[in-house]
Amino acid sequence: MSITACIAEIRGLLPRRRAISMNPVRSRRDLSVARSKMGGSPDLSGLGYWPHCEACGSHMIFVMQIYRRDFPRFPFPPKASLFSIFRCPYPDCPNTSDAADRRLLMMYLAPGKWVSPYPPAVPSNYEQPISQCVFRPSLFWDRPSSLNWRSMSPQIMSLFRRLSTQLGENGALRVKRSITARQTIKIGGFPSWQQHFLTPVCPCGKPKEFVFQLSSGQPHGLMIGDAGNIYFFVCKACGPRTMESCWDCG
Ligand SMILES: [Zn+2]
Ligand SMILES: [Zn+2]
Repeated sequence: MSITACIAEIRGLLPRRRAISMNPVRSRRDLSVARSKMGGSPDLSGLGYWPHCEACGSHMIFVMQIYRRDFPRFPFPPKASLFSIFRCPYPDCPNTSDAADRRLLMMYLAPGKWVSPYPPAVPSNYEQPISQCVFRPSLFWDRPSSLNWRSMSPQIMSLFRRLSTQLGENGALRVKRSITARQTIKIGGFPSWQQHFLTPVCPCGKPKEFVFQLSSGQPHGLMIGDAGNIYFFVCKACGPRTMESCWDCG
């Protein structure tokens, strides 16, 4: 079997899902509160105040927001049109959650006419605000994380052994990286687990579905643990308000 045929067979053995890569791009100018973006001033008109961390009382950092009109595939409850994420910047926050490396606030809002407050000053020893970015979304086919492959198809492991013989360990690793779940900010697809994997279960008994991933990196500058990701899941039967997150890093 040729190397190309072997790679095609591995791809064929794995399920694939259409996903949206958010592709954040740094903006040189201040972005309007009324657009989907990362950093800068959030649209808090549906809330009316700047969120505080429940664990330590610090002003939270605005991470990102997306409007339903821009990303209709994102799971929104019927009356909400905005999804926002904030996070605690205090390094010694007594955060005890497994949901993220730091205390995370995710919320659905129905924006009104109230004007957003400007971001509060962040002390220099705290995590600094996210760089302002617009999204340049693009569609791609995503496949499961290589951590899940063994349980999905034992055949894949023998194909990789064959690839290692032909390409060497590093060559086989490059192929693996080109197929595994993409580590990026994305809607849909598969979580790009780095250490472990799990599927949160809803109180109704059904497994939750992966819907979104937030990843560390540039140009936004968000750092989750050591270059990690936060994964968001929803129970499709019970609705978007069942959203929960978990995280890991390499
Ligand atoms: Zn805190
Ligand atoms: Zn449920």
